[in-house]
Amino acid sequence: MNVSHASQPVLRECQDCGLFQSVALLPSGDAAHCRRCDATLRRGSTNGMNRALACYLAAFVLLALATQLPFLDLRSVGRFYQATLFTGPAELEDHGMWEISILVLITLVAVPVIQLVLAITVLLGLRLEHPPQSLRRVYGWVEVLRPWSMIEVFLLGVFVAYTRLQAIAEVEVGSALVALGGVMLSMVAADIALDHEEVWETFEARGMMAKLPPQPQHGLIGCDCCRLVLQARERSRCPRCGSRLQRRKAFSITRSWALLGAAIALYVPANIFPVMTVIRFGRGEPNTLLSGVIELIEAQMWPLAMLVFLASITVPLLKLVSLVVMLVMTGEGSAKGLRLRTRLYRFVDTIGRWSMIDVFMLTILVALVRMGFIATVLPGLGAIAFASVVVFTMFAAASFDPRLMWDAAEAAGHDLELEGAERTDLQPPTVVPSVSAR
Ligand SMILES: [Zn+2]
Ligand SMILES: [Zn+2]
Repeated sequence: MNVSHASQPVLRECQDCGLFQSVALLPSGDAAHCRRCDATLRRGSTNGMNRALACYLAAFVLLALATQLPFLDLRSVGRFYQATLFTGPAELEDHGMWEISILVLITLVAVPVIQLVLAITVLLGLRLEHPPQSLRRVYGWVEVLRPWSMIEVFLLGVFVAYTRLQAIAEVEVGSALVALGGVMLSMVAADIALDHEEVWETFEARGMMAKLPPQPQHGLIGCDCCRLVLQARERSRCPRCGSRLQRRKAFSITRSWALLGAAIALYVPANIFPVMTVIRFGRGEPNTLLSGVIELIEAQMWPLAMLVFLASITVPLLKLVSLVVMLVMTGEGSAKGLRLRTRLYRFVDTIGRWSMIDVFMLTILVALVRMGFIATVLPGLGAIAFASVVVFTMFAAASFDPRLMWDAAEAAGHDLELEGAERTDLQPPTVVPSVSAR
């Protein structure tokens, strides 16, 4: 395959601070970082597409198995219960909590399945002699779906639920859980192996780019989807991936404020109303997010209590406060701590999905603890509010464009190059010379 053109350094826009800089194809294991905000611009990988395809295929088979196999077995006083992945969502729907049921099915089954099918289609399609043009649009979706595939978060939720269940019954791990563990590992391996830029460059090398006449009258613009940088008109189509080009995310500030406002409003009921009620020996104990943590502390499960406290209380609060600070400081055109704020944004954007642990744990508890006189777990209103907070903050973080923080500071007359130069441990410039990786 002809990749000779790809070994030349190419101009790329940092997605986090908007700085244009040239990036070369890197040897496997190396990464190029933004010289202003330290964001990863590109990771090198060798033969990544073939390895990723193998991993995706393995993940797909394992995921199909996971949906068919028993997930957890529970024994207590001569009774035996078995749950599949779908028992929890079905129980939640029976309790009128279809919103959570749908959210769990989307993040645990639908998104991973769609993501895998799309990725496999593209990587297989690129092996054809004449790959269809539509593959470019399909690949764009793989990236969009990524944050909503939450198998690893679910597995941590299973771990928390399992520990809590052991207090009341004998729990055995089913084979579906082993399969899901395999899915997670395969997807992580695929992520490490695959250099997305390489996939887009392959489209380019196979002559699948749309023809776009040179437009020197327009300024540089970086594609949000495939990262191609070119001189083009705002709102025109990217010749490489076909998505609309925009310098900054549309209505970023307004949308982020609106979603953040909704999340802040829901944060109160999420913490006041019980997320679940555990009924033991006929008596009900409503559990809020915080009382759930306290219960774990009382049971001497310190590490677990810390984990749930971090995921359910600290992370959502950190997200809300950080996003408010970023939005306000952007509005003021402040240049204070730009690098730190950009790092915080990356952290907040990455970590938000882990708050779903509590929602997944609830799904598992509701599915399994249906033992009449021993214990019953009923989902509470707080769970819907909490799940909404997680979803709204994820959307708010995705709507916010961190490049606007740099734009605003620049517009206010601050010298942004100083931001990076202040560091004493400044990395070698990212304008890397052409590296022959093969
Ligand atoms: Zn940057
Ligand atoms: Zn593009």
